[in-house]
Amino acid sequence: MPSQDLEIISRFPNIFDLSGDVTRSSMHWGFQMGPGWLGIMERLCERLVVIVEHPSAQIISVKSKWGSLRISYRGGGDAFEYEVEVAKAQSRAVCETCGAARKDYEGGFGGRQM
Ligand SMILES: [Zn+2]
Repeated sequence: MPSQDLEIISRFPNIFDLSGDVTRSSMHWGFQMGPGWLGIMERLCERLVVIVEHPSAQIISVKSKWGSLRISYRGGGDAFEYEVEVAKAQSRAVCETCGAARKDYEGGFGGRQM
C-alpha cells in the first residue's frame, strides 16, 4: 500500500483511533484496501470531520471484503453512521484497484449520488 492512505489519515487524526493498541484499533496498518478507493475515503473523512454531534466517534479499521469497504468504528451517531454507509455503498460501484466505475455494478447508492 502506498503511503497515500497514511497521508489521508494524518490529515484527519481526530476521526481515527491511532492509539497503536492492536486490541482496540487496526489503524496502524493504514487502509487495508486497494488505491481505487482512496478518493472515497478522503471524501468520507472530509464529511466526518465536520460532524460534531458525536466528537468521540473514531474509526478503528478500514478494509476490503467481498468487493466492498468495511469500515468499523466506535461511538458515532446517526450522521456518522450515514456517512459511513454512503462510502460503503459507493465502494461497491467503484473498482478497488483503479477507481473506475464498475461496469458489472447494478445496485443503487445507499443515499446521495457520488
Ligand atoms: Zn479497475
